[in-house]
Amino acid sequence: MIQFDQVSKRYPGGFDALKNLSFSIENGEMVFLAGPSGAGKSTLLKLVSGIERATSGNVIVNRQNLSQLRASQLPYVRQHIGIVFQDHKLLYDRSVFDNVMLPLDIIGFDRRDAARRVRAALDKVGLLNKEKSMPIGLSGGEQQRLCIARAVVHRPSILLADEPSANLDRAYALDIMELFKSFHQVGVTVLISAHDETLMEDYGRRIIRLREGQFAS
Ligand code: ADP
Ligand code: ADP
Repeated sequence: MIQFDQVSKRYPGGFDALKNLSFSIENGEMVFLAGPSGAGKSTLLKLVSGIERATSGNVIVNRQNLSQLRASQLPYVRQHIGIVFQDHKLLYDRSVFDNVMLPLDIIGFDRRDAARRVRAALDKVGLLNKEKSMPIGLSGGEQQRLCIARAVVHRPSILLADEPSANLDRAYALDIMELFKSFHQVGVTVLISAHDETLMEDYGRRIIRLREGQFAS
């Protein structure tokens, strides 16, 4: 489902963020991505979602080789991916409901079904009673759950999260992890990065460890 075949990423300026990585993640797996700041975790997630392109090697997602795909074909790949961004990327001038509606608007989802979908996603993350609120009025943990609702509202088969627990107290961070687990349990492939490994260790899942763009043990 997600396969990296000798993948390297060099940013303009010459920095090698990922060096010759090969691994694969099966359909429906839940995997953690660990490593200190600067290890290449965000870069790896950006290659999976097509936000960045590999400099060399093949990135294969849902049987599509992203390295060979034309830019115009990327939106079709993205429709099957949900992303929880490190910097939230919430729209602070729109309601909770509208923030979750946005991805469905973008893919041109039928309006009547869309409202039901948005409420189902908000219900799943425990924010149904906040649909009319503005994001700024939510706590940090609630904002993170809003990001997750927005990432899953189009029912992606792959869910990526870039340090979703970074700014949360441990109890909230564990809540968020449980939420990801619930999507994994219904068959979604989940890939979560974090620099704090203690959160991951309780889950008994595979941990991919990165350091300076390479696997670390
Ligand atoms: P992590 O998510 O593990 O903190 P990143 O993937 O964000 O790591 O970054 C890996 C390395 O690549 C860092 O040294 C970072 O400075 C560099 N990097 C990330 N994005 C860019 C960019 N757009 N241009 C140049 N260098 C970048
Ligand atoms: P509904 O069928 O009314 O959409 P569900 O309870 O099945 O409600 O799901 C609630 C929400 O949880 C969905 O709208 C979606 O956001 C998310 N969800 C459920 N199952 C999946 C899945 N397999 N993949 C991605 N998201 C899912």
